[in-house]
Amino acid sequence: MFDKDSFLRRLDELINTQDVSDVKAVYNAVSQAAMAEIYRHWKTPQRGKRCGYFSAEFLIGRAVFSNLMNLGILQETKSALAEKGLDLYALEEIEDAALGNGGLGRLAACFLECAATHAIPMDGYGLRYRYGLFKQSFENGFQKETADDWLAFGDPWSIRKEAERVKVDFADFSVYAVPYDTPVIGYKNGVVNTLRLWQSEPIEKFNFALFDGGQGEQVAKEVFQAESITAVLYPNDNGDEGKTLRLRQEYFLVSASLQSIFKRQKNRGRDESKLCEDYVFQLNDTHPVLAIPECIRLLEAEGYTFETALAICKKTFCFTNHTVLAEALEKWSGTRLRAVIPQIWTILEKIQAYAEKEGICKVDTYIVKDDTAYMANLAVYTAKKVNGVAQMHTEILKADTFRAWYTLFPEKFINVTNGITPRRWFLLNNPLMAAEITRRIGDGWETDLPQIAKIKPYIYDEKFRARFTEIKRSNKRRLAAYIERREGIRLPEHFIFDTQVKRLHEYKRQLLNALSVLYIYNGLKSGELKDFKPTAFLFGAKSAPGYYLAKAVIKFINEIARKINADSEVAALLKVVFVQNYNVSYAEKIVCASDISEQISMAGMEASGTGNMKFMLNGTVTLGTLDGANVEICEEAGQENNYIFGATAREAELVKRAYDPSKVLEKNPALKKAVDSLVDGTFTDDGTGMLKAVHESLLCGAEADRYLVLYDFDSYVKAKLSANREYGTEAFTTKCLENMANAGKFSADRSVKEYAKLIWEL
Ligand SMILES: *Cc1c(COP(=O)(O)O)cnc(C)c1O
Repeated sequence: MFDKDSFLRRLDELINTQDVSDVKAVYNAVSQAAMAEIYRHWKTPQRGKRCGYFSAEFLIGRAVFSNLMNLGILQETKSALAEKGLDLYALEEIEDAALGNGGLGRLAACFLECAATHAIPMDGYGLRYRYGLFKQSFENGFQKETADDWLAFGDPWSIRKEAERVKVDFADFSVYAVPYDTPVIGYKNGVVNTLRLWQSEPIEKFNFALFDGGQGEQVAKEVFQAESITAVLYPNDNGDEGKTLRLRQEYFLVSASLQSIFKRQKNRGRDESKLCEDYVFQLNDTHPVLAIPECIRLLEAEGYTFETALAICKKTFCFTNHTVLAEALEKWSGTRLRAVIPQIWTILEKIQAYAEKEGICKVDTYIVKDDTAYMANLAVYTAKKVNGVAQMHTEILKADTFRAWYTLFPEKFINVTNGITPRRWFLLNNPLMAAEITRRIGDGWETDLPQIAKIKPYIYDEKFRARFTEIKRSNKRRLAAYIERREGIRLPEHFIFDTQVKRLHEYKRQLLNALSVLYIYNGLKSGELKDFKPTAFLFGAKSAPGYYLAKAVIKFINEIARKINADSEVAALLKVVFVQNYNVSYAEKIVCASDISEQISMAGMEASGTGNMKFMLNGTVTLGTLDGANVEICEEAGQENNYIFGATAREAELVKRAYDPSKVLEKNPALKKAVDSLVDGTFTDDGTGMLKAVHESLLCGAEADRYLVLYDFDSYVKAKLSANREYGTEAFTTKCLENMANAGKFSADRSVKEYAKLIWEL
């Protein structure tokens, strides 16, 4: 196990020899001392099957606290630094590694931690973006994006493996892929897996001789071109980019990863026909699906026939679908593929021809058609197993998205409901509550979350309830202080914290929440709404920079916040805050301080959600629709312990066949007033026309109110007000605790074990 004494000795030496007035120096000392010990445990075994988890995104967040915790040296490090007059939590200044957009990338990060914690041999393969997801700030209520320079504090947890670099070829140029390996540390078990992130670099570093020959410009261009591949993460969540640089990124990721895996096989004396005995590759959405033709290409280069190569792939690849949104199911034009990776285009055509010969590419199952490659179809065709990420989502895949495939290959389809790691999302972010749980039920639950159900007998224990309330209060105080510093808004800690944090997307319906806040404000002003308990509505969300309507909703909510927070008449009852730059570290502070978790997507749209699980585990009730994993949350914790509203997925589908949103407004004048405020001068959008565009999205055209914001409004407000009414009662506290006690299923420990057993056969 981890040698604490050796770590503390080295930490002491490093601290004594560095100028620790600088946070960065403290960070380096802590990480270097930890890495020195980690090396001893960090060796990939020569034998045994491994899972390669291929993902374009790993939304890791801040590594330092979680690594120290998993190594079992968090408290010792804190004390050691305190003795020197240093504060470990000063390291909160260190930037998050935001190499992902949202749920999909965060899931990958949770899976890595959980696999290591349960000694499951899984390694992550991804991209080392120079700039991760943009940093968000608000200027006059508009989202502004700036570059995320996450390397400003260095990257002390990774090591560059120069000797293991590989070459990746595009039609027009080649680049090196250089791996940076980061240890993935299991929770107090001595296991270290690897996250391998690839960085693109030019084949020829600056060759100054060429400057003499007048070719300087050409050299600079080539360096720039090579480095641009991993320069930046595409900031679209659930949306297709379809650009050449994105295609290069995807190919670069899979080519580099597979080449390095093929090399390892060679070094171990294993031939490639054994690939499926030694490896299983999990494709995290369609982003890494080019791994399939790339694997065939590499096998053909070793002398295998196309048929054999494809057969090997069919035994080695598995695929996770994350969304039913049409705009997120990737496709690539033949023109673009031929221009960038012609070697892959040829193979895609061969796969299509082969599938046709098998007689299975008929309706809706084409891999290549009309000069377009359909990546999800390729994935489902080849994958041994295809999984959705919540029960309801998997059913939609079978019945709808992949209906034709399901008819052909029913045995491929399985469900693995998402999860979160309880270490980062409970032990680390809510240490007081975690300690209280351990005091009551002992340990063991940290890595076996269903055991948290053992607190059920204490749900009605007065002291336990009081402690829960007290801890939530103190978490609110901590969050309020943080928000005051960062956003300049004061939230009284006796307020209800009603929170919606997640990416901004029309289907997630932040607009529904915004309209309800306006409705409540108007009701308080007119005196029609009585007995409303003081509430702070918290929002946090980044919009894709090119997503006009999402950015418009941000402006709208910021305008609502400005108006409400400036109105002294409601100051004792209402606050609205849209926090800037919502990310993993912000989420850690928010989820344990919230009372109400808003999970209000239109039913049928959110594949799973994982934010919902973080809140549940931290003792928060869900105000939500029967969508994604909310359904399973209700199964586990009881629908009566949450606030469920709105059309079901089936109902939503029926409603949309003949839906006239303006009819809804006619019947609901208070809602009409809130909607009208988008265009009646109540708010300004500084002449951009953004608010009018939001108004039109609700009321104009054949696709008016696609996400049933107006249709669900009434039942939403009813549920919201009933939660408000119950807050502070014994019944409400019981609901919070029932959620916490029943969160066991939503540990990603369970998810990863299901993958290992049902899909990876590890
Ligand atoms: C968990 C998480 C998400 C996913 O949230 P959903 O509500 O499931 O969409 C997105 N971003 C961050 C920073 C997260 O921590």
